[in-house]
Amino acid sequence: MSAEPIKIKEKKPGQRACDEKDAKGKLCVGHLKRWYTPSEDVVQQVGKDVEVYRCERCHTLYRPVPEDRSSAGLRYEKRPVNILGDFARRGPH
Ligand SMILES: [Zn+2]
Repeated sequence: MSAEPIKIKEKKPGQRACDEKDAKGKLCVGHLKRWYTPSEDVVQQVGKDVEVYRCERCHTLYRPVPEDRSSAGLRYEKRPVNILGDFARRGPH
């Protein structure tokens, strides 16, 4: 029986290097590669259509952060105010 859950870390948007630390506390910084052939156990855990990444060095598994709401809230734009609005109305005398 090996029902132990597989360790899958969350990959932050834009993250390309493994941030797993070894026993000495040193960052791995291995390259995260898309893993196109995840094992069945992994698929069961992350879901079918989820992209899985794997560190080249320590083979830690990563999946993208499910929902990135952090940047969505910042998307409000200031509407440009037309300062010339009043002056533009002057007509010919
Ligand atoms: Zn690694």
